[in-house]
Amino acid sequence: MDISSQEIESIVKQVIAGMQMSQTTANAPGNTVSQGSTGRMSEPVFRQNVSTGTASVNGELGVFDKAEDAVEAAWKAQRDWVTNYKIEDRQRIVEAIRRAARAHVEEWSRNIVEETGMGRYEDKVEKHLAVINKTPGPECLSTEAMSGDTGLMLEEYAPFGVICSITPTTNPTETIINNTISMISGGNTVVYNVHPRAKKVSADCLQVLNKAIIEAGGPANLLTMLREPTMDSVDQLAANPKIRLMAGTGGMGMVNALLRSGKKCIGAGAGNPPVIVDETADVELAGKKIYEGASFDNNILCFAEKEVFVVEPNCDGFLHTIQKAGAYLLNAAQTEQLVKICLQPKKNGQGYEVNKKWVGQDAARILEQIGVTGMEQCRLAVCEVPADHPFVMVEQMMPVLPVVRCQSFETAMEYALAAEHGNRHTASIFSKDVNHMTQFARLIETTIYVKNSCTKAGVGIGGEGYCTMTIAGPTGEGITCAKSFCRKRRCMLAEGGLRII
Ligand code: NAD
Repeated sequence: MDISSQEIESIVKQVIAGMQMSQTTANAPGNTVSQGSTGRMSEPVFRQNVSTGTASVNGELGVFDKAEDAVEAAWKAQRDWVTNYKIEDRQRIVEAIRRAARAHVEEWSRNIVEETGMGRYEDKVEKHLAVINKTPGPECLSTEAMSGDTGLMLEEYAPFGVICSITPTTNPTETIINNTISMISGGNTVVYNVHPRAKKVSADCLQVLNKAIIEAGGPANLLTMLREPTMDSVDQLAANPKIRLMAGTGGMGMVNALLRSGKKCIGAGAGNPPVIVDETADVELAGKKIYEGASFDNNILCFAEKEVFVVEPNCDGFLHTIQKAGAYLLNAAQTEQLVKICLQPKKNGQGYEVNKKWVGQDAARILEQIGVTGMEQCRLAVCEVPADHPFVMVEQMMPVLPVVRCQSFETAMEYALAAEHGNRHTASIFSKDVNHMTQFARLIETTIYVKNSCTKAGVGIGGEGYCTMTIAGPTGEGITCAKSFCRKRRCMLAEGGLRII
């Protein structure tokens, strides 16, 4: 049997990684090591460690008790990753991550619903498949070259080093899979500070990915995380000189805190996406697509439709078609009852904020609170409200969709701009008028702008283009991929024989 030098190299790396893994786990106190004939650990042993909470400075497949240990391990792994692994190794390991994640989609989707108490299982399955199948790997890192009278210039995408990634409760494992593929494809390693309300499922996901990396011949601790993530641990990570980049996915409080840290940051913050249905729109299509998008995962996605501005004479038609698609239309009294349940006055007395108890809950459960029962099949409640209503202005992340009747397209744009709060995140329009489509795009300036479909099409879920769960509006990287987490470095070769013309 002929074995190529590349195959020998890969086998050697796998054996060394297997040895590292056995050592790591054997070092953890109270651990029973069970090895199969391949010398690799059997899966249940790793994952048991998350819930037992055994302490170890060596980590348990990437889960650490102390921030400094998590950073140190990721730093050592990064040195190994950039020095001893080629682009084809990155490609192979990313494929192994996709395979391993695919095998856990249903389990993680169920566990997220259980641990966070938010969202819908079947939609979480769809989100996982989108990030697994549609997050680009190292192939998107194209080298640029320029040659001329004064020599040859090369620009390449180089890693930052160790990245700290802060993940949200609304897409916990989806963001870990997505960011992992993007960040390690660029030659980085990652220390995660996950949302405390999703720490169990996040640790489980991280350990499964680390195991897949090691089994594919990659280094241990390419991904690390803190067992007990807190706001303080974010500060500790930001202050650690070995962290070269902070990447935050979540609300604006967190993004603003990162921006104040003085470190290079990639901030993916809140949205409150407005939709305009203009007087030329196909209302049948608008009703169907907005019902689908605004009810997806109970509206917890930052890019989901949050409020609709319908230009007359289309408002009654739209309210009819969205009910035909499955929505429940609230009357004025029911709407005000729901405001008292789903929102609460801010402590400073200025406006409202969400009552977290109802974020990401099923429409049927929310409707029960106001005595509307038997609505198990209904995924969305809609209500007609004025443009300054709290359901319009607050990013509520619940399947309760406010609809505003507008007398002109100009008024609809003005209202939409105010409701988006300058986040410049996501917006959409249902229209057959190309001028309207362009006018609204220019005014709203969002990272994602969708015409005549659900906003999720803008991140590749039912639309063209690659997928991300980290949409970095405030810092400008937009729909992130491996390139977003790399530094561009230039090499200039002076004229001297390297050019061929
Ligand atoms: P969140 O802001 O409560 O939490 C996000 C993460 O930040 C968590 O890990 C949390 O522990 C941490 N955090 C929160 N406040 C912090 C602070 N002051 N300092 C340091 N860390 C802090 O958000 P969430 O409820 O998990 O997610 C929903 C929010 O995130 C929504 O506003 C949604 O629009 C936004 N989001 C944006 C994107 C995007 O790509 N732009 C993706 C998902 C969610």
